[in-house]
Amino acid sequence: MSKQVIIDTDECIGCQSCVEICPDVFGFNDDDNKAFVINPDGGSIECADEAAASCPAECIHIK
Ligand code: SF4
Repeated sequence: MSKQVIIDTDECIGCQSCVEICPDVFGFNDDDNKAFVINPDGGSIECADEAAASCPAECIHIK
């Protein structure tokens, strides 16, 4: 089953931690200094979970 990865961009502080941990799922928009989802199924579930756990703003939500 494919997962849903949602970033609450209002809360994102632009630290790029998620992009470093899981670059197949998360990308970074330099224009607005926010992360975005490239492909929710791009990386392993562990990778996306790890990125969510390490997000200092706790704004990555995985369903
Ligand atoms: S880890 Fe969280 S706060 Fe940092 S860029 Fe990713 S979504 Fe934004």
